[in-house]
Amino acid sequence: MTRGDAVRARVLLLGGTGEARRLAAALEHHPRVEAISSLAGRVREPARPAGAVRIGGFGGVEGLLDWLRTNEIAAVIDATHPFASTMTRSAAAATERLALPYVVLQRPGWEPRDGDDWHWVDRVGDLPVPGERVFLTTGRTDAAAFAASDRWFLLRSVDPPEPPLPARLTVLLNRGPYPVDGELALLREHRIDLLVTKNSGGQQTAAKLTAARELGLPVVIVRRPKLPAVAIVETEAQAVAWLENVIPDSGGA
Ligand code: NAP
Repeated sequence: MTRGDAVRARVLLLGGTGEARRLAAALEHHPRVEAISSLAGRVREPARPAGAVRIGGFGGVEGLLDWLRTNEIAAVIDATHPFASTMTRSAAAATERLALPYVVLQRPGWEPRDGDDWHWVDRVGDLPVPGERVFLTTGRTDAAAFAASDRWFLLRSVDPPEPPLPARLTVLLNRGPYPVDGELALLREHRIDLLVTKNSGGQQTAAKLTAARELGLPVVIVRRPKLPAVAIVETEAQAVAWLENVIPDSGGA
């Protein structure tokens, strides 16, 4: 441990996203910050962030309170996925109780463009439009919401889904990246006539929307859960700036 390490503020970085990994990399050698990334442990072989990593749930708000106290955390950055609302609610509640600085790093959502045929829904599982061959990109744990449907589904996920599942289902295991050409080929190969997605936002999984637009396919898009009343930033750079502003200054020690 160097002299500088002794004064670094310990920061919890709630992760599971590309943004969280980029932020962990940006903070790895920060002179005033010691970041600990946290993953839920859902994915069998997760992409590991740089620096210290812990894996697994905290045990609700009470478990998180204990963990934050025990680890002497000075601030929390929540870079979880926009649909990871339980974790975000827990983090907002725990940091409020401990009066810890807390910010959500959340990429902007997608917006429809000319030529798009988007149908907004509030719940995963709602299918308000026809379409017999559905490309389902909401993630494996949400496949259960379609279990009672008699439509045919192509489900793409990182790990295999678990029951209950739709009766007519083909699973495609893949973690991307997904370029537009590949998405077009996939939609054509499986004769997809409806795309279902969450409004995840970001570039990494946006190509399917471009492909759907090109083929004139309807899209069912799930609205994001509402965020609690918390500070929000949209980029890793903004998150670093926020952090530098809230952690105690080491006074150049
Ligand atoms: P969730 O419903 O909000 O969280 C359920 C529980 O999982 C939380 O209460 C918490 O358990 C634990 N958890 C979630 N994120 C965690 C983290 N970063 N570190 C430690 N524990 C965590 O979350 P989810 O939608 O299942 O997502 C799980 C993880 O996958 C998140 O980290 C998220 O960033 C990532 N992810 C989610 C999606 C999505 O569509 N939901 C997509 C891509 C990536 P305790 O209550 O025991 O603390």
